[in-house]
Amino acid sequence: MENDIQQILLTQAQIENRIRELGQVLTEEYRDKDPVIVGVLKGVVVFYADMVRHIQVPCQMDFMWLSSYAGTDSTGTMKVRQDLTTDIKGRHVLILEDIFDTGNSLNFTVEHLKSREPASLKICTLLDKPERRKAGITLKADYVGFTIPNAFVVGYGLDYNEKYRNLPYIGILKPEVYDKF
Ligand code: 5GP
Ligand code: MG
Repeated sequence: MENDIQQILLTQAQIENRIRELGQVLTEEYRDKDPVIVGVLKGVVVFYADMVRHIQVPCQMDFMWLSSYAGTDSTGTMKVRQDLTTDIKGRHVLILEDIFDTGNSLNFTVEHLKSREPASLKICTLLDKPERRKAGITLKADYVGFTIPNAFVVGYGLDYNEKYRNLPYIGILKPEVYDKF
């Protein structure tokens, strides 16, 4: 698995340090707010598990699973494959995301959750690729772990064809790997 990586973009230590910093900010932000922390599956699971342990306030965890109708990068038409089990009306909601790329998925998630009238709704994304943002998407993340260049990354929850999610760092695949799967 490591052999398939061309370049490590973010090391385990860099990710850990950034999560600790974000944790301090989010702990202050959500003190006494009993937030619902929403993870968007599946890419977020590794970040989610590390991040919530640094948000040191009482909170509730919930998850959504989206799917797009066609492929990954196409029309951007999304649907809810699995919805929250929590009633978020009047609650403070924090969305955790692995990556903010074209913005289709976050935009959809935000609209979906807003319709349930939460008291507040904020976004924390580990990675932001602003260069890839689709025209017309004005949404901004409230908290960003790292802004990265326009490259396809894997590891720390992020997959290529469902592989590499369990790498402890974030890296770029060797070009020849794309011909393997
Ligand atoms: P969006 O384009 O809607 O902002 O992102 C949709 C999804 O595409 C992300 O949640 C993630 O699963 C996937 N994605 C976007 N960029 C990357 C990337 O660089 N690497 C991987 N593995 N997945 C990505
Ligand atoms: Mg995702």
